[in-house]
Amino acid sequence: MSKMGLPRFCDTTSRLSRRDFLASALAAGAFLPQSRDRRGRGRRHRSFAEKIDPSQIPAYQYRTLALSHFPALQDEYDQTRSDGQLSRNKVFRDEITPLSFELPGNFPDAKSVVVVAAFARTMYANFHLDGQVYRILVPFQYYRDELNPESLKNIVQKDIIKEPGHRVVDITERVPLKLLAARSGLGRYGRNNLIFVSPMGSFNVLYAFLTDYSFPDDTWSTLDILDACNHCHRCDHICPTNCFSRRSFVIDIDRCITLYNENTGEFPNWIHRSMHNALMGCMECQSPCPVNEWVDQASGNLEDVSEDETRKILEGALDDATLKSLQRKLRGFPADDSRELLPILTRNLGALIRT
Ligand code: SF4
Ligand code: SF4
Repeated sequence: MSKMGLPRFCDTTSRLSRRDFLASALAAGAFLPQSRDRRGRGRRHRSFAEKIDPSQIPAYQYRTLALSHFPALQDEYDQTRSDGQLSRNKVFRDEITPLSFELPGNFPDAKSVVVVAAFARTMYANFHLDGQVYRILVPFQYYRDELNPESLKNIVQKDIIKEPGHRVVDITERVPLKLLAARSGLGRYGRNNLIFVSPMGSFNVLYAFLTDYSFPDDTWSTLDILDACNHCHRCDHICPTNCFSRRSFVIDIDRCITLYNENTGEFPNWIHRSMHNALMGCMECQSPCPVNEWVDQASGNLEDVSEDETRKILEGALDDATLKSLQRKLRGFPADDSRELLPILTRNLGALIRT
């Protein structure tokens, strides 16, 4: 855990750890062979031209891999960490250091891993201030819904394994999730370094569970990018801080807004106010993606935040009752978890609604 880190995000009961974005999403491009043929090859995924009805998107998708692949995954992960492509940023390095594909000593009978992608919707919250309403994006990484580590563990036991008596252990916080998802065939990398799972696009949250059950299917897959990325640069062009490189597929994490607005401290002066687009994180490289074109139809709303509450957030002066109310309205948004983290909410909201 970095000194600047948010302890709550490492709670395995949270919707998603910040590690998932920083350590997995932004490191993802480094796992792709940089010399690959970018004109597309291998399995063809659903074309982005194909219309998707969000109401038909399943709540989750999964793949299973035998644990015998973990040594190869560990070698791949080690090689990527040592080849100089990843950022030396301390916060980022602190996040990826604990991740590995080493088998846990307390589960010697483990045989398989189940990799799950849960469909996640974008939410908006209306913040009221001075008679105006500010509709602010709350990305799916930062609120909780009914699909969480506990409910998914039950789903793995009852609906995926379907055979009683097998042990299931959540290893979501311990493994490089996006590499695992790509190698299991669950998803493919996009140019924005996120994992796309058909048909939910990049609007997914990944989980991994070990089990002592042996699945008949093993879907070990090659690493590659979405076919759609071969003739598209929308995410590259829209990124407000120029994180994308023309020379490699690795995003420059040191320039990513998420690295700064998930942590305490002043924003660097090169992040201008107009670049902020969400209460936490940044959705700019996902929103215009043609693979996610149905996303606006699938967004939802959190409860409105009142004038009084908005003002107290901006003043950094929340009483216990208001803090409790916000925790309910924003469904466990990380920066309203405790007084220690409130300066993040105050700073982020101020950047979005102060003129
Ligand atoms: S916006 Fe285009 S290039 Fe970026 S991930 Fe989506 S399809 Fe790929
Ligand atoms: S668009 Fe936002 S989240 Fe994507 S790489 Fe750029 S700063 Fe990071």
